Amino acid sequence: MNPITTALLGLSVADAIGVPVEFQTRGELDKNPVTDIRGYGTYNQPPGYFSDDSSLAFGLAESLGVGVFDLTNQAKRLINYKLHGYWTPENQIFDIGRTTSLSIDRLEILLREGKEKELVSLRHGATEQDNGNGALMRIFPLYAYLRDKPVEDWFEYIWQHSALTHGHIRSAFCCFLYLRFCAHLDGKVEKTEALKVARRELLSVMGEKKPSLAEYDALEKLFKADFANLARTQVQGSGYVVHCLEAALWCLFNADSYREAVLKAVNLGQDTDTTACVVGAPAALRYGVEAIPANWLAALARREEIIDLGDRLDAAYPQ
Ligand SMILES: [Mg+2]
Repeated sequence: MNPITTALLGLSVADAIGVPVEFQTRGELDKNPVTDIRGYGTYNQPPGYFSDDSSLAFGLAESLGVGVFDLTNQAKRLINYKLHGYWTPENQIFDIGRTTSLSIDRLEILLREGKEKELVSLRHGATEQDNGNGALMRIFPLYAYLRDKPVEDWFEYIWQHSALTHGHIRSAFCCFLYLRFCAHLDGKVEKTEALKVARRELLSVMGEKKPSLAEYDALEKLFKADFANLARTQVQGSGYVVHCLEAALWCLFNADSYREAVLKAVNLGQDTDTTACVVGAPAALRYGVEAIPANWLAALARREEIIDLGDRLDAAYPQ
């Protein structure tokens, strides 16, 4: 199976494992940890039902799957999710982040008023509050588009897409580090080395973008932490993009399988589906589709359509 399809399955299966316990605290999960696929719970959805994280990633995958990076089209698919449940398990939304929801309303107004040219400059209105994990959770498909492009070109595309909902440069830095890490894993680089190189690449982008010192402070742990030796108490599964990426890396560096990484993510508590979703793509790239537990994959809603989508996206950008 190609890496794009593998990762789409990896992220959506992981999302679905987290959905039934979203918002549970770590204390609650420590008493009753998730050890296998469950259903119902928080949103009363059947096992294998993925949430907004995957739906929005699939929307981006569909948009890029036609062979172009088209911000207007990406925005339309975000709107379509909110209005019509596009790419949800049953064409019905049961989960949407606050910033994502408000941003989609803004996109809808811009497009209705024929102001699509403004999509490219959405970053300018961003504040530090716009740093939820809502862009990070859906960014993976952009890897297919970027994988053959020079690394110097990646950040601008990443920021443009992120800014449709999360315009702050910090969200874009996190998405960049994540996609470069995924790229190195896909290139069969060992995970410690993959993170080391991705960190170096992010430093270089930051050197060029010259953000305020607050950004270096905010990203300090992402740059410096030895995730394999970091205590579990040092990470949290919150909705803040930096915490989310730290938690995902902690899971990946403290697990030896797809299954273990995803369960670790879910059992951190809080934004369980999103932490797991962010873990799911790199874990699947690292361990392969065969590492996704068969009963998890069998339960996944719209599985065959996801495989078809991944195959189309992969084929749109031949290597
Ligand atoms: Mg979700």
